[in-house]
Amino acid sequence: MLKRILVTGGAGFLGSHLCERLVEQGHDVICLDNFFTSQKSNVVHLLARPNFELIRHDITTPIWLEVDEIYNLACPAAPGHYQYNPIKTMKTSVLGAINVLGMAKRCKAKVLQASTSEVYGDPEVHPQPESYRGSVNPLGPRACYDEGKRAAETLFMDYHRSNRVNIRIVRIFNTYGPRMHPFDGRVVSNFIRQALQGTDITLFGDGQQTRSFCYRDDLIEGIIRMMNAPDDFQGPCNLGNPVEFTVRQLAEQVIQLTGAKSKIVEEPLPPDDPTRRRPDITLAKTRLGWEPKVPLQEGLTKTIAWFRSIDMAHYRPPTPNF
Ligand code: NAD
Ligand code: UDP
Repeated sequence: MLKRILVTGGAGFLGSHLCERLVEQGHDVICLDNFFTSQKSNVVHLLARPNFELIRHDITTPIWLEVDEIYNLACPAAPGHYQYNPIKTMKTSVLGAINVLGMAKRCKAKVLQASTSEVYGDPEVHPQPESYRGSVNPLGPRACYDEGKRAAETLFMDYHRSNRVNIRIVRIFNTYGPRMHPFDGRVVSNFIRQALQGTDITLFGDGQQTRSFCYRDDLIEGIIRMMNAPDDFQGPCNLGNPVEFTVRQLAEQVIQLTGAKSKIVEEPLPPDDPTRRRPDITLAKTRLGWEPKVPLQEGLTKTIAWFRSIDMAHYRPPTPNF
C-alpha cells in the first residue's frame, strides 16, 4: 500500500538514502530538514520526482502535516556537530520527539525514532543487548546527545502507553557510507578525507577503542523493516554490524585502500569516549530477519570512491546560530 511518509532530517546522510528508497517504492515522501548538518545537494536529484517534497523547517517547532508514517531522524549525529550547540541538540531530541509524537497521535500515524547506541554510554556489558540500561555520564560533553536520545525514547514509550501511539525505536550503531559530511569529524569521514588529502590520520588515544561499522544500505534496510514489523514489536531494536574493529585497524585499512602516504598520529582521547562498542543483533535477526551483508572493506571502497568524486569545497561546517 502506498503511504504518505514524513522523514525528518531527510536531507542528512541516512535520511537522504531513506527518502531515496521510499520514493523508489512509490510512496509520497515529505523530507523535512533545517540543513543544520546537511545541504540540499543530498536530495537535489529527488526534487523532480512527483512523489517527493522538500520542506525547510526546524523540528523543535510544531508543524501541521497529514501523514501515515514518520521516520524521525532529525538530530545532529556526529560528536563535533552535536556538541556545537549542545542545548539545541537536546531541544531537537526532546521537542522534536514531542512534535512528531503529537503529529502521529493526531494523524494516527506510525512513528519511528532513530535512537542510538549512545544510550548505552561507555558500556560495561559487551556486546550490548537492548536489555542493557547503559552507563551514560549525564554531565559530560556527550550528554546533550546521549541523554536527549534517552529522553526521546522515554517520550516514545509514554506516548505509546498513554495514548496508544504506534511507535518503533531503533538503536543505530556507527553507520558510514557515501554522503557522510566530509567535515563532520566522525572517524570514517575524517580518516578517508585525511588519506585523500595526504594529511596525518588523527588517531584519538592509542586507537585500541573499538567500534562496529555498518554500511548505510544495510542500515536503511533494517530501518524500513522495523517500520513494517508487526505492531506488537515497538523495540528498542539494535541495528548495526556486529563485526568489531579497533579504530587503529580502521586507520590501517583506510590507508591500504586509498594507497595514501599519510602517517598515523596519536591525539588526546576526547572525554567520555566509549572504549568498546558492538551490537548484539539477536533481536533484529529474530524479529526482523535482518543482518548486515556488506563487509567493511567493500563498504569502505564504495565510500572512498564517493569521497574522491565530490568537491569538498562545497561542504560547509555547521551553520552558526542554530
Ligand atoms: P546527519 O547529521 O547527516 O543527519 C541529520 C539531519 O537532521 C541533517 O540533515 C540535519 O540538518 C537535520 N537536523 C538537525 N537538527 C534538526 C532540526 N532541529 N530540525 C530539522 N532538521 C534537523 O546524521 P545521520 O548520520 O544521517 O543521522 C540521522 C539520524 O540517525 C540521527 O537522528 C542520528 O542521531 C541517528 N544515528 C545515526 C548514526 C550514524 O552512525 N550515522 C548512529 C546512531 C544514530
Ligand atoms: N576517532 C579518532 N580519530 C578521529 C575521529 C574519531 O580516533 O579523527 C575515534 C573517536 O575517538 C572514537 C571513534 O573514533 O573512539 C569513533 O568516533 P566517531 O566520532 O566516529 O563516533 P562515536 O562512535 O565516538 O560517536
